[in-house]
Amino acid sequence: MSEMNPFKIAQAQLDEAASILGLDEGTHQTLRRPMRELWVNLPVRMDDGNVKSFQGFRVQYNDARGPTKGGIRFHPDETVDTVRALAAWMTWKTAVVDIPLGGGKGGIICDPKSMSQGELERLSRQYIRQVGRIVGLEKDCPAPDVYTTPQIMAWMMDEYYWQKGHNEFGMITGKPIPLGGSQGRGDATARGGVYTVREACARLGIDASSTSYAIQGFGNAGQFAATLHREILGGGKLVAVSDSRGGVYSADGLDPDAIVKHKLDSGSVAGFPGTTEISNEKLLELDVDVLYPAALENVITGDNASAIQAKISCELANGPTTPEADRILHDKGVFVIPDFLANAGGVTVSYFEMVQDSYNYFWDAETVYERLNQKMTKAFNDVFEMRERYESKNIHMRTAAYLVSVQRVAEAMKLRGWT
Ligand code: GLU
Repeated sequence: MSEMNPFKIAQAQLDEAASILGLDEGTHQTLRRPMRELWVNLPVRMDDGNVKSFQGFRVQYNDARGPTKGGIRFHPDETVDTVRALAAWMTWKTAVVDIPLGGGKGGIICDPKSMSQGELERLSRQYIRQVGRIVGLEKDCPAPDVYTTPQIMAWMMDEYYWQKGHNEFGMITGKPIPLGGSQGRGDATARGGVYTVREACARLGIDASSTSYAIQGFGNAGQFAATLHREILGGGKLVAVSDSRGGVYSADGLDPDAIVKHKLDSGSVAGFPGTTEISNEKLLELDVDVLYPAALENVITGDNASAIQAKISCELANGPTTPEADRILHDKGVFVIPDFLANAGGVTVSYFEMVQDSYNYFWDAETVYERLNQKMTKAFNDVFEMRERYESKNIHMRTAAYLVSVQRVAEAMKLRGWT
């Protein structure tokens, strides 16, 4: 179904922004497609002695504002169009938080859950053997994303070191702290998202400290959102969480630290004591103040959008809401903090990591949080004010975020003489 093709969705979102901005045709068409992409074939020796060939991609969507930047996903359902869409969203993401980077993304079609650590290491190194020629601090800087970890970043950085003959820590971010990683990178996506929820509550007149919340998806971003929501907002009640194996609900509230521990110990949130079961679909429809979609794309669609009851949807995942759902949510009064704004904290601290790696001098966690807070607060308010400026067109926050970002990227292309 083409409405579900993330790249078609990303292009449709851009088209709307281009028309509102009155973007010239050359700029618009240039922004509709990636600047470059590399398809790679990755032969990897598996533990049973056989060689398996994996398909991988690296897409450099737009680097007018600086080197391309974006994560690498390991996922069995990865497609080049998903990677293209994610690379486009990275372009808008780095622009909305106003960091001097472009947008890129990588992906490998694989099922990391069924692979050993040794197989994952060989796959990760093989990927860098292939894409090493087009990445680097000043060209394109990868990072973690779905099912990729600091350990995987460390292997990739090390492989690059063997290729180039010198350490270049800043060629990849999300690394472990002893290898040039930054304080605060681990929880940055969730932290940045909670900062935007704080700003949204202030704008909407909601008492942030007494908000109920639910989290769909309990990977890195979801787990940290569970604890940081209460820590940053000064309170709140977590009523439900889910992951790919199921979900749990409690009207009385779940203890965020205990549920994270249960997930880390058992591999899932399912079976957490004192809760009732809830499906991923039903979790999205709970009557909560804040919903965090923190899993994968296309979970809120034309089919279920009218059942969403949350006041705020803070999209920690990339692409969770389809354009049709966006319109329904907007008409219903659900305030969506769009993905490339809500989850921009990750790449913002990745940028801080590149800066620290470049001068080989590292900041403490408080400095990282403070600088992240400044970036996210300004980005949220830039978008909110853009929405107010275009009030007569009745636009939602996603379109407003596009207007902010597309304008910035278009300006950079013009100044360079590309358009
Ligand atoms: N993968 C994350 C994202 O989608 C982080 C990218 C980065 O740190 O470069 O924003």
